[in-house]
Amino acid sequence: MASVTFHGGVGEIGGNKFLVRDGDTSVMMDFGMSFAAEGRYFSEYRKARASNVLVDMLELGLLPRIDGLYRRDYAEHMGLGWTEEPPVDAIILTHAHIDHCGYLGYVREDIPVHCTKASELIMRCFDDTGKGHQLTELRTKFAYSAQSKRPWTRLTGDRREREIRTMHSGRKFRVGGIAVEPHEVDHSLPGACALILHTSGGTLANTADLRFHGRRARATDRFVKRCARAGIGLLLCEGTRISRGPETPARTERWIEKEAASIMRGAGGLAVCGYPMRDLDRLQSLHLAARSADRTLVVDLKQAYLLALFEEHLPGTYPRLDEVGIFVNRGSWGLIDKGVPDEALERDYDKWKQDFLNHPSRLDYRDISAGARRYLYYCDDFSLQNLIDIKPQKGSTYIRSLTEPFDADMEIQERQVKNWLARFGLIGSSRRWHQLHVSGHGDGAQIRRVIEGAGAERLVPIHTERKNESHHRAMHGSVTSVRRGRSVEV
Ligand SMILES: [Zn+2]
Repeated sequence: MASVTFHGGVGEIGGNKFLVRDGDTSVMMDFGMSFAAEGRYFSEYRKARASNVLVDMLELGLLPRIDGLYRRDYAEHMGLGWTEEPPVDAIILTHAHIDHCGYLGYVREDIPVHCTKASELIMRCFDDTGKGHQLTELRTKFAYSAQSKRPWTRLTGDRREREIRTMHSGRKFRVGGIAVEPHEVDHSLPGACALILHTSGGTLANTADLRFHGRRARATDRFVKRCARAGIGLLLCEGTRISRGPETPARTERWIEKEAASIMRGAGGLAVCGYPMRDLDRLQSLHLAARSADRTLVVDLKQAYLLALFEEHLPGTYPRLDEVGIFVNRGSWGLIDKGVPDEALERDYDKWKQDFLNHPSRLDYRDISAGARRYLYYCDDFSLQNLIDIKPQKGSTYIRSLTEPFDADMEIQERQVKNWLARFGLIGSSRRWHQLHVSGHGDGAQIRRVIEGAGAERLVPIHTERKNESHHRAMHGSVTSVRRGRSVEV
């Protein structure tokens, strides 16, 4: 008999951690952070203590208690002990959103991680440009010298690469007794896959996060058709937006591209935009829109780093760096406009940024200011200070391609963003921003299409609030509502 244990991702949006056991084989589907559960205890100023992080997280129920799952340096230092044999044979990631992969940094590095190349590149970008996610490689901690001369000298951590195995959409692979089929689906992040698992107890499908209104609607369709052919016993089906009705007129990624182009054609100055930084399909929409309005999309350094990784490993999928502008902001000393020699300028930036300083596509605030009508300048909500340097002139416009606030904290943030944009004339009392966004998740009608198309015998709602499970019930005759930590037979 095979079973799935839900260590997160039920009764909440995100935090997916589904352990599938079949005889001697066990695989974990996703190992994500739960924003809701973390938000119950932690804030920006109150976090798990780095020296005791595993114990803190286990105590609060944020990580599942699975002996031997966690990295050795943490587990031994924090008194949790260690087992030579990992308790899980593999982790299979549906995609690289933090609510699906964010807790991977706590997991021991000798458990293979199966994911698409795109997911790996996004995680690598997190590791190389962020602060300590450790998704693709660990930096060991709590090591000290036992030498008699200076005992307890702290040793700076060595790097340990995680064992990452690339999976390809439509290509089956085996982990022990389980055969796994990943299938690309349409979502707001490259490389997202739904999973079909063939176990001794029957076939199980996990929709991950999906929709039909992006650039890969056909991929979602293919997954649903494959489910119908495979004969799914148990379907884990997302319901992030299942309570929402369809928008009229229908809003799609192509709609964003068309609207953005027409806004930019009408703008007499700089066009500024904000969008989810890792959503390369959105970047692509705005890149194409800019091009058709005779403008160039100008990305920030993190996006440039991500595009460079894709250009190297998955060429041809997204714009090349020579097709966009790369905005170099002020470094730690602000030497960009001081006329200093290249070596001095380099030292003003982190290592991962240095390659872009002399890139032919490099631009700084002076270029954006001088050529305002030629650019669509990406400015995230945390980089609005750059507007002080750029000084957008009259006729400039702002396109907001981000979700609207859904909690009090986001509302405060949004008010601040509006203050900045109003201050620099991008919006006014009678001129609002252009809101052009579509969600990464399908609405009720789209989820119905998945449920009816897949034809599964039983269904477990995932990635949705408890109150929304009634919508799953209205769409399927055999729905099981699962509590965190509980198991269901396949
Ligand atoms: Zn997602």
